[in-house]
Amino acid sequence: MARPPIQLLDDVTIARIAAGEVIERPSSVVKELIENSLDAGADRVDVAIVDGGQRLMRVVDNGSGIPDAEQLVLAFAQHATSKLRASEDLEVVSSLGFRGEALASIASVSQVTAISCAVDGIGHRLRIDNGVTIELTPFGAPTGTSVTVENLFNAVPARRKFLRQASTEAAQIHDLIARYALAFPDRAFSLRSNDREVFRSLGGGGLETALSAVVGADAAAAMLPAEADRDLPPPSGPLRVTGFVSPPHQHRATRRYVVLLVNGRPIQDARLQHAILDAYHTLIPKGRYPLVVLRVDLPPSGVDVNVHPAKAEVRFRDARSVYGALQQAVRAALLERSPIAPAGPLFASEAVSPSIGDRQLPSRRSGADSWPLSRPFRDRPAAIAEGQTKPYAADAAVSPGLSGNTVALPALRLIGQLARAYILAEGPDGLYLIDQHAAHERVMYERFMSREAPLASQSLLAPLAIPVTPAQAALVEAQARLLAGLGLQLEPFGPTAVLIRALPEVLAGVEDPQQIVHSLLDLLDDDERPVADAIEARLLRAVCKRASVKAGQTLSLPEMRRLLDDLEACQVPRTCPHGRPTVISIGQSRIDQLFGR
Ligand code: ADP
Ligand code: MG
Repeated sequence: MARPPIQLLDDVTIARIAAGEVIERPSSVVKELIENSLDAGADRVDVAIVDGGQRLMRVVDNGSGIPDAEQLVLAFAQHATSKLRASEDLEVVSSLGFRGEALASIASVSQVTAISCAVDGIGHRLRIDNGVTIELTPFGAPTGTSVTVENLFNAVPARRKFLRQASTEAAQIHDLIARYALAFPDRAFSLRSNDREVFRSLGGGGLETALSAVVGADAAAAMLPAEADRDLPPPSGPLRVTGFVSPPHQHRATRRYVVLLVNGRPIQDARLQHAILDAYHTLIPKGRYPLVVLRVDLPPSGVDVNVHPAKAEVRFRDARSVYGALQQAVRAALLERSPIAPAGPLFASEAVSPSIGDRQLPSRRSGADSWPLSRPFRDRPAAIAEGQTKPYAADAAVSPGLSGNTVALPALRLIGQLARAYILAEGPDGLYLIDQHAAHERVMYERFMSREAPLASQSLLAPLAIPVTPAQAALVEAQARLLAGLGLQLEPFGPTAVLIRALPEVLAGVEDPQQIVHSLLDLLDDDERPVADAIEARLLRAVCKRASVKAGQTLSLPEMRRLLDDLEACQVPRTCPHGRPTVISIGQSRIDQLFGR
């Protein structure tokens, strides 16, 4: 069959192809329209949607407006922009848009009505139906621009199929606007969904004000300021990270509120997000996410913003340093500033067992054990000192639990053990319960992370061959050094087996060697983390988990005392390496209240 001749595509087709990249779903339309409003200098952006945006989306701003009819028509042409003059400008572009394809793309797959006035009351209205201009008339409105997008993808059934339920799309748009409110706290945003106001931020304020519009005043007040500075090698120059991060006990089920701005541009970069979430590793439970708003500012030459059609990703010249700085900022904020998780709600509905501590009260001993304290409370820690790098931890600033000081536990007076799982202690403000397993895990983990020599290992009486996958066999060879550092001596034994020669001493006799090795090799397997020592940390966490004293184990008073002392000496005493709390406290006033005093 003869091949059809080569032809240039018509404009609508070109725009629709571009729309395939830029306009994925209703929220992508809202994103582009909001960014245009912000680029036009608007300090109010009001959004309305009907049926999750698929029926209608309208973005109204009070920005500069588009000066005349000709410009208004051009705004909807492919590759038409007022934000870029020459390709060199790409290097330094500071507006959110610059590709000049958003409006053309949107208009090619929906029915658009745009009204724009650069002068109050004098402007134009343009209507485009799926790429075809149907009306251009003079039109009076307040200075600014309003773009209404109706029946998105109605003419492109293939795309419409991929839309989700209206409620899901509406939720995405809600999140998007919340993120922009955080990213641009000086501007006011609102969202009406099916004619009901669902979001409003007042603008004009700092990030704190915007945060309370998004997460509520209480959660906003608990946020911790974060910052970090780095000097990147030329030509990148100085890099600065600033913002707020949530304390470890305030986590949520979604990662939507990890907001990242690079030179003022909100981006959704999986690797950067990962770097941030990694900094929370061991501090919050698996599957839970922090609330984070961080801006990264660096000279434009250090970052390429033109790598993604929707401009959601950027590329850094020195990506590792950027990850490192982000992690350092988050980590420092968490280590220096997080408070102990209060146990308040826990006891609000339940009565405290009246027998706590009434039996085994040890007599007061002298010295460090006595209460009131014979030693001062530790001070609020100084900022994390850089350069405290230890062997086995390449970058102290990004290694869990290794960097400088942290908020210490208060000195605790030991009371006794509860349910063979918890240590009870008296602290400056009431009762403290320490999870013995979690505490021991934390102590071991930090000891191992800061170790200066490999973990002690214990040889098996007879080497044990166990089956593994070929990929794991290869890993055993490739990671021999890392494994040896953990006290694990493994040897390749053909393509599908390894020989266990020795195990970490702390695990010897704890469990079946084959099980230990299999679970560690599974952990080794998948890894894309930006930080190299994350694998080691992960393996160590697994080792600690297995080796820690279990709940159900009776501890003697001296054993408990030692555990408390060891925990107090930890950098991050308040959570286990898997993110659960090691300590909860019930305030004296809460106890008094429960007794009706
Ligand atoms: P880009 O934002 O990449 O320039 P768009 O297609 O989004 O491309 O917009 C094209 C042009 O239309 C912009 O460069 C801008 O000059 C103008 N424009 C779009 N939206 C607005 C608005 N809300 N206010 C003022 N001008 C606008
Ligand atoms: Mg744009």
